Formats: sequence, structure tokens, C-alpha cells
Amino acid sequence: MPGKSLHVRKGDRVEVIAGNYRGARGQVLRAIPSRRRVVVDGVNMRKRHQRPSPQNPEGGIVTFEAPIDASNVLLVCPHCDEAARAGRRRDPDGTVERICKKCGEPIPTP
Ligand SMILES: [Zn+2]
Repeated sequence: MPGKSLHVRKGDRVEVIAGNYRGARGQVLRAIPSRRRVVVDGVNMRKRHQRPSPQNPEGGIVTFEAPIDASNVLLVCPHCDEAARAGRRRDPDGTVERICKKCGEPIPTP
């Protein structure tokens, strides 16, 4: 089901809640809403063995973060430091804020 927005964005601090990296925290490096996936700093590291090429004459092993499903991460609230679901609230001036479901404080958008 492709969506247009995720509960997390690039630059958010998140906690992984499922899979091999459960409990890990890191920053969202990339959000891919069309595939409901995110790339999180230091999470889901993969290695690629690179054959020597004109650009990279040494070749060798390149490590990189592979995308994970966005449903496997929660926002980390900067106020209470808990991994929490985010609610939404519309300000009097019309902007939509994300709210920590645990402490009720707004979570700033990076
Ligand atoms: Zn909170």
C-alpha cells in the first residue's frame, strides 16, 4: 500500500522495535514513503563486495545501511526519551504538530 507520508521523516531520531536491530536507536538518513521504508543510521548494515573498477581501483568491501520497513521504527521523544507513537494536533495557526503519545509534548520536525 503506497502512502504519501510516514510517521517519521529524514532527521528524526527513532528506535527500532522489531528484527535484528531491535532496541537500536539512530537518525533517519532517508525516508522512502512510496515503499514505506526508512534508512536508519547504523541499522541494518549490509556489505557489498566491490570488484575493482576505474572509479575504485582497489575494489573491496563497502558497508551501507539497507532500508527497513517504516512500521519497525518508533519516534524517540526528545522530551521523555521514550520510543513513542506520534499523534497529530492542529495548532491554532493551522500547522500540524506531532505529539508524543506518552508525555503529550510536541515533537519538533527536523
Ligand atoms: Zn514524550
